[in-house]
Amino acid sequence: MFGDVEKLETKILELEQKLGQAKQKRAELNALDPEKRLAVFLHEKFCPHNHTDGCAWWYESGDTAWTGQAHVRWIKHSREVSAAMEG
Ligand SMILES: [Zn+2]
Repeated sequence: MFGDVEKLETKILELEQKLGQAKQKRAELNALDPEKRLAVFLHEKFCPHNHTDGCAWWYESGDTAWTGQAHVRWIKHSREVSAAMEG
């Protein structure tokens, strides 16, 4: 019986941690301008590579992330999608 309570406490801690991470990610996404937000979405959905060694997305972080070649590539895709949507 107490083992079940401990398992539940562990599960609750795990879920609270995941919730905190999701809220953090949402806050970071909401802070981006729409063009960059779309670039993040497009990268997550369509990048076929490993995001460290393959495309370098995760190597590019902090204030200079959006000047890195991987981020610049997906900003370009974001602009292409926006342009296509506008006709
Ligand atoms: Zn990638």
